[in-house]
Amino acid sequence: MSFRNRLRFEHQLAALVGLLCLALVGATVGGAVWLERRSAIQLAEARLARLATGMAETLDVTLRERFREIQVVAGLEPLRERWSSDATMVRGVLAAMRTTAPDYAWLGFVSADGRIRVGTDGLLEGMAMNGRAWFETGLARPNVGDVHEAVLLSRLLVRAEPEPLRLVDVAAPVRDAAGGVIGVLAGHLSWDWAIRARRRLLDEDLPGTDLWVLDRRGHVILGPRLGTMPFGPARIGAMVEQGSGRFTAALGTETVLAGFASAATGERSGIAGGDPGLGWIVVATRPEAQALAPVRRSVQALLALGAAAAVIGIALAWCLGRRAAAPLRRMTAAADRIGREAEATTLPRLDGAREFVALSAALRSLLRRIGTVERELNDATTRSTRVAAFYRRQIEDLRQVAGTDVLTGLLNRRGFAGPAEEAFAQARGGRCGVAVLVVDIDHFKRVNDQHGHDAGDAVIRHVGALLAETVRGSDTVARFGGEEFVVLLLGLGGSEAGLIAERLCVAARGAEIAHGGRAIAVTVSIGVATVSARDPDIQAAIARADAALYEAKARGRDRVSVAVETEEIERAA
Ligand code: GH3
Ligand code: MG
Ligand code: MG
Repeated sequence: MSFRNRLRFEHQLAALVGLLCLALVGATVGGAVWLERRSAIQLAEARLARLATGMAETLDVTLRERFREIQVVAGLEPLRERWSSDATMVRGVLAAMRTTAPDYAWLGFVSADGRIRVGTDGLLEGMAMNGRAWFETGLARPNVGDVHEAVLLSRLLVRAEPEPLRLVDVAAPVRDAAGGVIGVLAGHLSWDWAIRARRRLLDEDLPGTDLWVLDRRGHVILGPRLGTMPFGPARIGAMVEQGSGRFTAALGTETVLAGFASAATGERSGIAGGDPGLGWIVVATRPEAQALAPVRRSVQALLALGAAAAVIGIALAWCLGRRAAAPLRRMTAAADRIGREAEATTLPRLDGAREFVALSAALRSLLRRIGTVERELNDATTRSTRVAAFYRRQIEDLRQVAGTDVLTGLLNRRGFAGPAEEAFAQARGGRCGVAVLVVDIDHFKRVNDQHGHDAGDAVIRHVGALLAETVRGSDTVARFGGEEFVVLLLGLGGSEAGLIAERLCVAARGAEIAHGGRAIAVTVSIGVATVSARDPDIQAAIARADAALYEAKARGRDRVSVAVETEEIERAA
């Protein structure tokens, strides 16, 4: 019996429903997770890309404004003659610029020989700037330098930010009326504006979000891990190439979602044609785990709902299975009682489902048919038993008739064979002596002749009856044919048998047989022999007795002649 066949119906149903629920919940939750996860990642990355673009634009706008400003002021006609001659005025103009754009840490005019002629608040005035990139390039064309740490100004300026002062240099050549370069107008833009812009954007965004500004080689110039290169060269290359986009990457031990945008490039920033720009890249990141936290929560909720639905489903299936199987159980119990308990003879009538009603009807009908067949079988068995008994009796009767002489009611030659065989077997085993008498009515022909055949029959019947009542019940008397009888005497030797034969002879002689108003007298002659151990069968002894009978006839009839035993003959010889 398989495991499945041992389970109750309700358990099988509950298990099936449980598995079904499990599969359904698994598929639903799996699909939902996949969809939600995909859309959550897409949403988060899009949001990050927007943030990066926003930051890049902020950087661009400020740099573009400052760059234009420097160029415009450097080219102002009213100032052309005063750059080198009117330091106070130039200082006033620079102060006004700084008031308009407080992001400037310092503004100054450097004469073509490299000396600072004018500096805001008089700072750095008189110092030589030869060799500084912004100055040397500024003599030739307007330019913006990449962010760098302040060397001189960090000690001179008071700032709110705890980080070291970093600057972006903006410079443009100043020319005289003839177009000759007389110096460079330069502004050191404090990087604090970028720090503040980043902080403002991050404050507005979701917790866990981070913003990075990378230089063209991928080093962090703003954001955590300053100076390091958190994204690999391949990624940096891809970002430079794409300009903006999104990606997922491993950052340290965690996976982050990222959106990026290039900032302050020559083209986008509007920085002078020919200047390739600074090639900054803004990257906004968010740990994937945080972005997917809502998905995880909804998965948990879905799983809880699914589990609840599965439990309810299993319970319902169990109840349903139990209810559905109850009639079958009742039927089984009733069927089990049939044949064991006397009063249990029928099956219950089931209700509920149509199949149950049909099943119970079919089984009840089957039971009725079985009952009918059983009754018919019983009747047939009884009948055949009766018939068999009848034929047994018939056969017994026939057997008796076949072994019985009709005239005398004694055994005939056939009937004699059975008892003779038994007696012979006893004599052969030496268990007891057996003697055989052959009795013949003398001159019977004359009886027939003188009194008629009927009288002859009456005489035969009378002599037979006489023989039967004279010997013992254990002895056997048979009529062998005509007026000749054979008597089998058990437990006797030759001489004792001879005495009994004498008695028979006397009884026959004394009998007066009445027939047709007359008395008929007869005599018998008897030959006697005993069964010897050497006899092959009983016939040998009968033949000896027959021979003795003829001797009795020959000696004058109405007498007994005992055959001499074979052993005695041998002894006498
Ligand atoms: P014995 O003394 O030598 O025996 O002389 P017997 O006349 O008896 O001689 P046997 O045995 O030859 O004769 C027998 C006769 O018995 C012959 C036959 O007609 C007659 N018989 C044989 N069977 C029956 C029978 O059933 N009924 C009658 N009535 N007569 C029979
Ligand atoms: Mg005879
Ligand atoms: Mg005779």
